Amino acid sequence: MTRTHITGSFQLMKSLNRSVILTIIREYGPISRADIAKQTKLTPPTVTNIVSELLETGIVKESAIGKSKGGRKPILLTIEAKHSYIIGVDVGGRSIRAVLTDLDATIEHQVTHVLPKEMNEHTFLNVLKEVITDVLSHSSCPKEKMIGIGVGMHGIVDHTDGIALYAPNFNLSNIPIKQELEDYFEITTYVENDARALALGESWFGNGKDIDHVLCMNVGTGIGAGIILNNELFYGHHGTAGEIGHTVVDMHGKRCQCGNDGCLQTIASSEALQQRALEALGSGRKSMLMKNNLSGKVIHECAMAGDELAIELLEETGTYLGIAIINIIHFMNPEKVIIGGGVSKAGDFILEPLKKVVQTKALTEQARNTEIVLSHLGDNGTVIGAVTIVLKQIFSRNSAVS
Ligand SMILES: [Zn+2]
Repeated sequence: MTRTHITGSFQLMKSLNRSVILTIIREYGPISRADIAKQTKLTPPTVTNIVSELLETGIVKESAIGKSKGGRKPILLTIEAKHSYIIGVDVGGRSIRAVLTDLDATIEHQVTHVLPKEMNEHTFLNVLKEVITDVLSHSSCPKEKMIGIGVGMHGIVDHTDGIALYAPNFNLSNIPIKQELEDYFEITTYVENDARALALGESWFGNGKDIDHVLCMNVGTGIGAGIILNNELFYGHHGTAGEIGHTVVDMHGKRCQCGNDGCLQTIASSEALQQRALEALGSGRKSMLMKNNLSGKVIHECAMAGDELAIELLEETGTYLGIAIINIIHFMNPEKVIIGGGVSKAGDFILEPLKKVVQTKALTEQARNTEIVLSHLGDNGTVIGAVTIVLKQIFSRNSAVS
């Protein structure tokens, strides 16, 4: 091994340990240096050295005095959440939402821009830059405190190079998001599929905390799933794992935008919900719903007002989602299933029929009792997930190297 290699691996080890210590302080703080040493199995002098470095950068601060177990009372450490800031972006089918947060993922400012109906790569990237410029301009935070931009993008994403390989809602391919944003803003940018971003956000800040195997379904204009196995995002061989929206649930069903017939997305997405409502009204069903004013929100409101058709449409959506989820439960055996995205706002109208499918069709008692919940982060799920992609670069959940 050459000297450069040795220096390189030493630097890496040091930075890995720094990241592990930061994570312990983030998750267990306020915490003493002695307790950090116990948790990480690093020696107390190593912990003291790294903590001194971190205190110097300002990302860690000394806070309250802890209880003494005999001898001097220890000084406790916490993360200075305002040390750095992050921009999280959610690129949906119809709009782009961006937030600015601190290191606790607390939102300080947010903006949403509606996307034009027809777009080419150039117009899309321009809107994306406008949204980020907008959120930056409303913040008093200096640019050098910005440590990253995280983008949750629908469709197939190459997360290594930050390229949107295929964005079905825009019918665009190979959009170099990372490169464009880094050239324009000079801020490191990470791009991830939106369902995977949501799963990561739920795993750090929502209903997936402290759970090793989670399935997170994003049900909106499209349907995607983020899979967390052993506490890590699962990508599959080509990074396309989780495309649950394109599993076939009716081989004689409607043509999907992917070219296949009867994908889950053609039945249970928000678009499909509106389409089915239109068809029912067209066939003369009596309802409070009106052809010219249909949206997921309106259907939910009518269901709450007791409209039979609206309730039936949501129930049907829940049942189909339940069929998709029972297949995943049998295949993957997750500990918990989280449902997010626009359609999840219909709450119990879809959750109850969905749970019913799982409770009646699952193979074992344990599988029947798989916990199924709505996203805790709600509308902010994907943006907080996008922020988490950046946080993940600083706070490592790996073990320390002594
Ligand atoms: Zn499809």
